[in-house]
Amino acid sequence: TDVIRLEAVTKQYDETGPAALSGVGLAVGAHEAVAVMGPSGSGKSTLLNLIAGLDRASSGDVTVAGVRLNGLSETALARFRRQHIGMVFQFFNLLDDLTVLDNVLMPARLGGMSLRTARTRSAELLDYLGIGRHADAYPARLSGGERQRVAIARALMNRPPLLLADEPTGAVDSATGRHITDLLAELNRDGQALLLVTHDERLAQECTGRIVRIVDGRIVGEEATTGRAAAA
Ligand code: ADP
Ligand code: ADP
Repeated sequence: TDVIRLEAVTKQYDETGPAALSGVGLAVGAHEAVAVMGPSGSGKSTLLNLIAGLDRASSGDVTVAGVRLNGLSETALARFRRQHIGMVFQFFNLLDDLTVLDNVLMPARLGGMSLRTARTRSAELLDYLGIGRHADAYPARLSGGERQRVAIARALMNRPPLLLADEPTGAVDSATGRHITDLLAELNRDGQALLLVTHDERLAQECTGRIVRIVDGRIVGEEATTGRAAAA
C-alpha cells in the first residue's frame, strides 16, 4: 500500500498566474523514503503543503495514509495532520518559552494523549535521539542540531505513518547535517516513511531510496539513489 498517492494534481494560487504544480502524479510506498529536489520556486513546498493537508489542490486527487484529502473540512484536515503526519522544518519551529520536553509533548496532548503516556513517550524519544539530558532545558540553550532532534522527536510523538521534512539540514553546519541524515536514515530503516524536500544531495542519497526531480511545477524525472543501492 502507498502512504502517498497523488493523481493529476494541479495547484494554482491565483487564477491569472502560472500553476505552481501541473499534472503531478506521485506514489510513495508505506515504508519508503523519497527525496524531492528541484530549483527554488519549482513547487516543492507547495507539494509538501498539499500532502500535509496545509493547503488544497486546485484539481486532482491527494490521498495520504489512506485518507482522501479532497474536500475535507479544515477541522478534518487538522485531525488528519495530528494523526497521520509528522513535520520537520528547516528552522525547527520550536516554541521558545516551552522546555524541550513540553515542546515534544504538546502535539500529543492536543491529540488527546494522557499526560502520563505523553511524558513517558517523549522521554523515550528524547533518549532515543540522544538529547534526553536536555529535557528540561529551553530550546535557546541548544545547538542547531539538538534543536532539530527536538523537532524530530516532536514530529514522531503520534507515531505518524509519514514524516515530512522541508530542508531539515538547511540551517545546520555540515557535521550536524550528517548526524541528522544518519538519524533520518535510521528511522527509515526502522520502517518510517519519509518525504524530504531538500537541496542536500548527500541527505537525498544517504537516507532515501529515490529522488524525484521537479522543475516549474512538473515532475521531470526520478532515479534510484546510489546510497541505498550500495547498502542493499
Ligand atoms: P519551492 O518550494 O520549490 O521553492 P514553492 O512551492 O514555494 O517552490 O513555489 C512554487 C511557485 O508557487 C512559485 O512560483 C511561488 O512563487 C508560487 N507560490 C508559492 N506559494 C505561494 C502563495 N502562497 N501564493 C502565491 N504564489 C505562491
Ligand atoms: P525554497 O526552495 O522553498 O524557496 P529555500 O530553502 O531556497 O526555500 O530558501 C528560502 C529562502 O530562505 C531563500 O531566500 C534562501 O536564501 C533563504 N535561506 C535558505 N537557507 C537559509 C539559511 N540557512 N539561513 C538563512 N536563510 C536561508
